[in-house]
Amino acid sequence: MFRMKTIHKTYKLRLYPNKEQAELMSKHFGSTRFVWNYFLTERKQSYLESKKSLSYHDNARTLVTLKKTDEFSWLKDVNSQSLQSSLKDLDTAYGRFFKKQAMFPKFKKKGLCIDSFRCPQNAKIMDGKLQIPKFNPIKLNVHREIEGKMLFVTISKTRTDKYFAAITCEVKHEPLLKSDKAVGIDLGIKNLAVCSDGTIFENIKTTKKYAKQLTYEQRQLSKKKKGSNNRSKQKKQVALIHEKIRNTRVDNIHKFTEQTTRINGIIAIENLNIKGMIKNHNLAKSITDASWHELTRQLEYKSDWNNRNLIKIDRFFPSSKTCSFCNFINQTLTLKDREWICPNCKSVLNRDLNASKNILKQGLKILSGCGTQSELKKHGQASVSNQSL
Ligand SMILES: [Zn+2]
Repeated sequence: MFRMKTIHKTYKLRLYPNKEQAELMSKHFGSTRFVWNYFLTERKQSYLESKKSLSYHDNARTLVTLKKTDEFSWLKDVNSQSLQSSLKDLDTAYGRFFKKQAMFPKFKKKGLCIDSFRCPQNAKIMDGKLQIPKFNPIKLNVHREIEGKMLFVTISKTRTDKYFAAITCEVKHEPLLKSDKAVGIDLGIKNLAVCSDGTIFENIKTTKKYAKQLTYEQRQLSKKKKGSNNRSKQKKQVALIHEKIRNTRVDNIHKFTEQTTRINGIIAIENLNIKGMIKNHNLAKSITDASWHELTRQLEYKSDWNNRNLIKIDRFFPSSKTCSFCNFINQTLTLKDREWICPNCKSVLNRDLNASKNILKQGLKILSGCGTQSELKKHGQASVSNQSL
């Protein structure tokens, strides 16, 4: 039993609110979004006018005053802890920005962000229903057993009008058995991941099939009159396809990350950092970005749960251009070169497999304390954060 570890596990369950509950949820979505936007403006203004950075506590105090005014008294209709959670999220977003882990926080626009709010306390499940402050018990589909102590619940609504409760619990977890194996992973487009042990993990082919459907439904959408009922119906059709793509994609990635963390004790991967956060309107590319992030996210928590060593490699490390046999750097390598012959040692190298072997080597170097992160990283990050300001 000494191997047991306390982890945070999130269960996602479908909610079936009645009309009245759905309306109250909608109020919560709107109010938490309002709080985020209001205080983002306030923080920005304070900084511009007096170079003063406002803290969470400054914001929380103002929020209390705000609720007492006639203009904003409607904020009292929702769970005050959910509003405070929104402020905490804003504070975290600022913190992440200053640590150069994320872009500057953005305004939340209705319809463009996921509708959600959090209940940090006093949530429980009774008789198949979810109990949260301000609400009558909400019908819940408990399709699996919820283990551990419930910490907080996030309620969300998808663009396809489905409601979910993401219930985060503190759970006792038995980590996987130790492993001496190590792997390097190269993330790609044709293949989602190529591993240094030769494992190839393909990108799901369904994307192509859905892409066709999506183009069709989107064309239908463009024909519908703005603001019309038919248009909102068609919007939902488009969202349904996006949802299907996402679900298949995420399930697929789970298979990969489960296998990888089960087999390997050390996992080396490229650090995507800000690279993937840049918005891209090309469907295939944006799906790839999202997949890489999901894959990294899953590897992070699964490694943590199972005492695996996940090492992130500087994204400027020349993993593709370096020969994994002799370390020669091929400066003439282009993106098109899927296979190349090392001019130095004459090895025939498959681009992705070679890259994954280099990622593993670099990971092991960093782990042993010999690896250095390149100077380029600093320059690269500085230029990205300047852009976002
Ligand atoms: Zn070589």
